[in-house]
Amino acid sequence: MNKYLAKLNYLHTKINTEVLEKYAQKNHVPIIEYDSLTVLLTIIKICKIHKILEIGTAIGYSAIHMASCKTVSKIDTIERNKSMYEEAVKNIELYKMQDKVKPHFADALDIELENLDHDYDLLFIDAAKVQSEKFFKRFLPLLKEESIIITDNILFHGCVENRENLSKNVSKMVEKIDQYNDFLANLENFETIFINIGDGLAITIRNK
Ligand code: SAH
Ligand code: MG
Repeated sequence: MNKYLAKLNYLHTKINTEVLEKYAQKNHVPIIEYDSLTVLLTIIKICKIHKILEIGTAIGYSAIHMASCKTVSKIDTIERNKSMYEEAVKNIELYKMQDKVKPHFADALDIELENLDHDYDLLFIDAAKVQSEKFFKRFLPLLKEESIIITDNILFHGCVENRENLSKNVSKMVEKIDQYNDFLANLENFETIFINIGDGLAITIRNK
């Protein structure tokens, strides 16, 4: 993180999440990288996003930041790991975001869709990387026509591009991410912009 820029950005966001960043680092929680976060928040602000569906809450870091955007009225965020979910609930209360952020303890592939809304402006996919395509297809019907889909970690520490010396497990995961990126790049009626920022961000919009 560029501390100089973080300080300037803090002047208008007024949200200091240093404790969460430290916790994440100490406990190896893969929260969104700062540069990707700034792009995510910029899109939310420029597009005046109201409702967000997030797949992968972890400790609530990205959700708390997204909720700090004035136009955002509601975020549903799904987490399957009990201790992460509990940490998120605690943090959402700590940052007084409980009116805007609703955490769901569930596997995103099993959650009852009746528990979610059907008019999200933004889908943020940031959970198990091998499942991104399934998340995309499952939650697309819950989005508004003019919505945006953002996927994090599409470069996976450069491993998607450079696959030498990877363990069998990482190799499999990276293969899946590559397939997902290909799926996005070739998806009819959609356009995806792939950005080399943080751990790689894919921004998908519907063609008109
Ligand atoms: N969005 C967070 C980071 C999420 S890390 C942030 O930037 O602050 C990814 C999280 O997704 C992990 O906590 C993991 O437990 C969760 N996850 C993975 N697969 C999932 C699934 N199928 N359903 C719900 N949560 C899932
Ligand atoms: Mg991520």
